[in-house]
Amino acid sequence: MRVFNFSAGPAVLPLEVLEQARAEMTDWNASGMSVMEVSHRSKAFLAAAQTAEVDLRGLLRIPSNYKVLFMQGGATGQFSAVPLNLTAAESTVDYVNTGHWSNKAIGEARRYARVNVVADAADSNYTAIPPEATWKRSPQAAYLHYTPNETIGGVEFPFIPGGSVSPIADVPLVADMSSTLLSRPLDVSRFGVIYAGAQKNIGPSGITVVIVRDDLTAKARPGTPTVFDYKAMADDGSMLNTPPTFGWYIAGLVFKWLKAQGGLDAMAVQNRTKAERLYGYIDASGFYANRVARDCRSWMNVPFTLPEPRLDKAFCEAARAAGLTNLEGHRSVGGMRASLYNAMPIAGVDALIACMREFARKHG
Ligand code: PMP
Repeated sequence: MRVFNFSAGPAVLPLEVLEQARAEMTDWNASGMSVMEVSHRSKAFLAAAQTAEVDLRGLLRIPSNYKVLFMQGGATGQFSAVPLNLTAAESTVDYVNTGHWSNKAIGEARRYARVNVVADAADSNYTAIPPEATWKRSPQAAYLHYTPNETIGGVEFPFIPGGSVSPIADVPLVADMSSTLLSRPLDVSRFGVIYAGAQKNIGPSGITVVIVRDDLTAKARPGTPTVFDYKAMADDGSMLNTPPTFGWYIAGLVFKWLKAQGGLDAMAVQNRTKAERLYGYIDASGFYANRVARDCRSWMNVPFTLPEPRLDKAFCEAARAAGLTNLEGHRSVGGMRASLYNAMPIAGVDALIACMREFARKHG
């Protein structure tokens, strides 16, 4: 039986995609083989890989002066790849620290460059985004890095940094969009580099999407591993070595599915509806709580607490009995977390709210 899977990642995939993959599992594209068994350099796979890129470009309206790379090493690999490609040994780089994942990115960048933390959300215990006007940016930064959606904290930027208010507008903006890419339309032209591990809104883990402006691809430091060199990857169509072919194929199916749903405008409407419904219930419940500042609440990851941590286990058991899984919060913060990626239908959110209501009635 399919459940409603609220995992933060690897996360729920569209049922239609899984069913198509199942139907094609042993005979893909009339090849008599599964897609996992064909050469990545075969005509058929190259065509599928190309179509996935074209569809992603269409969904995000990616301008032609950006490369789309399908890489490996996850978002964590990009924590290193970004400084390796965009800095020289003496460079200063600006980072916004809004929680767990930006902190990880900062730790990795420190191995390669001087990191200036322009703002740290510690004051709010990482439940709000420090206003851009308070950021202490360095004039010479090689780039400004931020995490638009903190998957664990459930904190999301309500703005794109460096807009018209920026005094340092020509510093490339780098964003770890692992848990928000494809959740709504995006103005890619505002960014130098966008990267995302696939295992939330894109496909299975093991593939990493990188969208990089052309002028930022040719600056890799000597010593950069070739598989992390944006130019080398771009020149070889992300195939300088064997790519994760199955992940690329599934991502392609997900992009087709997104197009069939009406694209990112339609996803935005659905995602906003799901998030508003769940936060609305939490706030009105008098039982559950979400501590994130209202204008910074994530559409994708909704952490919430019960009145007593001792109720957590019983809540998870009640949820599981109702076919709702993976609601435990991240091990570092506890509590609950419901991730509402694109493939989570509104019916899943309604089922969660019904379960929460019933649990609160029994235990309130
Ligand atoms: N950044 C963010 C925002 C994430 O949510 C995650 C994974 N949950 C990561 C980075 C790490 O990604 P990966 O496991 O693909 O390296």
